[in-house]
Amino acid sequence: MRAAQRKKLQDELISRRRVLVNALKNGQAEKRRGDDDGPLDLADTATELRNQEFSYSVSEKERAELAGIDEALVRIEEGVFGECEECGEKIGDARLKAIPWAPLCIACQEEKEELESRS
Ligand SMILES: [Zn+2]
Repeated sequence: MRAAQRKKLQDELISRRRVLVNALKNGQAEKRRGDDDGPLDLADTATELRNQEFSYSVSEKERAELAGIDEALVRIEEGVFGECEECGEKIGDARLKAIPWAPLCIACQEEKEELESRS
C-alpha cells in the first residue's frame, strides 16, 4: 500500500471513529437527561460518563464497528491491512470499500456466520 493511500485510509478510519465515539457519548448524555429531571451539571455529567461502563446504552453494532476500526488501524500500522485474518488472502477491494475495517474475506466471513448460526 502506498504511503499516501495508507494515510488517506487512516484519516477515514479515524474520522469515522470520532463520529462513532461522539454518537456513543451523546447517547449516554441523553440517557442521563432522561433519568434526571434536575438541571444538567456539566462537571457531574463528565464524571458520570467516565464512571459508566463504556458500553452503556451503546448498540452492539456500533461497538463492534468501533472495535473493528481500532483493529484495522493496528493492521495498517503492521502493514497487513487488507489481508484476511483467517486465510491470509487479500480481502477484495469492493468489500474493503464497503467495510474498510473488515477483518475477514467474504469466504471466511460466510464460513464464520455459518458456524455461528449453527452453534
Ligand atoms: Zn479468508
